[in-house]
Amino acid sequence: MIRVIFLGPPGAGKGTQASVLSKDFDVPHISTGDILRSAVAAKSELGQKAESYMNSGELVPDDLILDLIRERLTQEDAGKGWILDGFPRNVSQANFLDKLLVDIKQPCECVLNLEVPDNVLISRLLERGRKDDNEEVIRNRLVVYRKQTEPLIEFFRSRQQLVSINGNQPMDSVAADLKQVLQS
Ligand code: AMP
Repeated sequence: MIRVIFLGPPGAGKGTQASVLSKDFDVPHISTGDILRSAVAAKSELGQKAESYMNSGELVPDDLILDLIRERLTQEDAGKGWILDGFPRNVSQANFLDKLLVDIKQPCECVLNLEVPDNVLISRLLERGRKDDNEEVIRNRLVVYRKQTEPLIEFFRSRQQLVSINGNQPMDSVAADLKQVLQS
């Protein structure tokens, strides 16, 4: 059983690696970005509220995300473990998650941080070509990451929960490094 939080900038490979680990360890891969993109595609109320933030590379407001994560983590399949990809994204989400995990008795000790240099991130994202992957939006996503999400590295490091991994390697090597950490 594993419970893991993935940290790292956009383009670091969180989604790819979370999906590999999710298959290997048979636990759900919970990506707030995927949940939001489905909501946008379905034109739900959540999707309509989130879309403009996503298209400009800003974080969607916490009040749209917090209920959603509580609901997702209390679904039955999350009882066997999970991999969080894209949440928490700022300190207030991290504090919310702390309380939630105590509440639902799902402790998480392991935060995996994928490190990749900016120039590699930008070229990877440009290649990926998602709707929010044009150069201007990518640059803003990196600014938002530095300002709001990067402080979480220290947040988790100070609690001895952080393990950093070199994400600037071939996919299989990153996956092997991650598995080694999880099996140790
Ligand atoms: P991602 O797929 O994780 O890169 O997320 C794509 C977009 O969804 C982000 O640029 C944000 O606009 C939004 N998003 C995803 N997760 C969160 C979150 N935890 N808090 C706020 N916005 C989020």
